[in-house]
Amino acid sequence: MAIDFSLSPDLEAIRARVRGFIDEVVRPTEQRIDDGRLRDTDKRAYYGELLGMRAAARGAGLWLPHMPAEWGGMGLGHVELAMVQAEAAKSSFGPWVLNCQAPDEGNMHTLLHWGTDAQKEKYLRPLCEGTAMSCFAMTEPEVAGSDPTLIRTSGYQDGDEWVISGHKWFISNAHRATFAILIVRTEDNPDIPQAANTAFIVDLPSDGWTEVRQIETMHGGTGHSEILIEDLRVHADQMLGGRGQGHLLGQYRLGPARLAHCMRWIAQAETALDMMVDRSLNRFSHGSLLAEKQGIQWLIADSAMELYQAKLMVLHAAYKVDAKQRDDSVDFTAEVSMAKHFVANMLNRVIDRAIQVHGALGYSTDTPLAHMYQHARWARFADGADEVHQMRIAQRTIGAYTSDGSTRRATGNLPI
Ligand SMILES: Cc1cc2nc3c(=O)[nH]c(=O)nc-3n(C[C@H](O)[C@H](O)[C@H](O)COP(=O)(O)OP(=O)(O)OC[C@H]3O[C@@H](n4cnc5c(N)ncnc54)[C@H](O)[C@@H]3O)c2cc1C
Repeated sequence: MAIDFSLSPDLEAIRARVRGFIDEVVRPTEQRIDDGRLRDTDKRAYYGELLGMRAAARGAGLWLPHMPAEWGGMGLGHVELAMVQAEAAKSSFGPWVLNCQAPDEGNMHTLLHWGTDAQKEKYLRPLCEGTAMSCFAMTEPEVAGSDPTLIRTSGYQDGDEWVISGHKWFISNAHRATFAILIVRTEDNPDIPQAANTAFIVDLPSDGWTEVRQIETMHGGTGHSEILIEDLRVHADQMLGGRGQGHLLGQYRLGPARLAHCMRWIAQAETALDMMVDRSLNRFSHGSLLAEKQGIQWLIADSAMELYQAKLMVLHAAYKVDAKQRDDSVDFTAEVSMAKHFVANMLNRVIDRAIQVHGALGYSTDTPLAHMYQHARWARFADGADEVHQMRIAQRTIGAYTSDGSTRRATGNLPI
């Protein structure tokens, strides 16, 4: 029997170490930062606390869980990573402290797979060391980000250089990044629309790359920038992957990156469910505790079932991502797409229910729920909007039925 959900003693030990590290190092530091309002009042002390946590994570052997050992990482597969991410994301600083946060984590995978040796040494090495930061610049205000074949930022070759002009926005981390992976239209008449774009690595700051603003969002201004690109000159050596492979590279990057988001969202949903239950056990109304009321039990039960579904979907999708390393014919796109859609919506529903059970307190900023809800809304359209995933899932399901006479292949291709 090959299906076994128990963890090996080694992996159980890693999970326990991450949980212990978050409880004993990250949470107390987070508390000190909040209590002292260090982020606003004392930047030096704030950065000192942040870097101190990172040094402690490295010292504890909990650095770069997603990267191979030769890059200083823990060398975990995606199933193993699911455990680590879901523990780390119990604290908002956790993934950053372990150096497995978006967008750097996805960019590391991309550079590892697509970079030349020289590009890896120059960009991947410092990213892994924690001395560089990166961003991924694809979305544009003028065209639908859901359809990258519409990208207008364009480049032409001038000798050894590419000259690039265009407009990007919502580029996370761009304000702090030391380099960007920039998606540019380079091909006028590609064989297929998906072969029009090319990726380039851009050193930051660079002439021709201007940060217009950090966009204020419903969860505050948190480093998602609008970028104007005017005659930016990039040496041909800075091309990442081949000409016309930008779409492919984006898709390659998004698979594991989407799943890593799901792993972190599970942690957030679990926190919300814990809070929902805790509140229901401590709030009395109309003759009994909230926990004793069927209406509240339904909210708890629905959340528990959905969280369970989410965990199974993420584990199975992660298993397929790992399986592809051994057998290239394995395709995990459908499972990652279904997991991303389901987990993003589950997260929004569970936090919403937790707020409901907390009443006015849940709406206040005295608990983390309001902030978590503002963050969670983003999950339903970024990295593939709900409707785009549904469109692809439906296409695959119809395709499976028309070719096999059964939809079975499109529902995870599981042995039941
Ligand atoms: C917090 C945050 C961080 C981000 N970080 C980055 C980043 O680092 N780098 C980057 O490049 N981008 C980033 N983005 C942008 C994100 O990837 C885009 O928002 C996303 O790809 C959707 O593109 P769009 O906003 O242009 O929406 P659109 O493509 O205009 O879509 C809007 C809506 O239209 C509907 N829709 C679109 N297509 C279809 C369809 N085929 N069928 C049915 N309905 C459809 C959906 O409801 C969708 O939500 C970020 C966004 C946010 C909010």
